[in-house]
Amino acid sequence: MPDSQDSEELMYVKCAYCGQWLDVKPGKMNLISHAICPDCFEKEMQERNDKKPTSHDKGDDT
Ligand SMILES: [Zn+2]
Repeated sequence: MPDSQDSEELMYVKCAYCGQWLDVKPGKMNLISHAICPDCFEKEMQERNDKKPTSHDKGDDT
């Protein structure tokens, strides 16, 4: 019975932000786990910083 390869169960880890495949590891077959890659993690953190309410001056010196 050549089903040793077939019984190999893999879990795919995908970045929920950019869709990049991050990892494949033994796990439940056909299960896709969503994670965040370092790139998107950094972007996300930067965006959070950007969204900080800052009082933007119009820059007119008086
Ligand atoms: Zn990503």
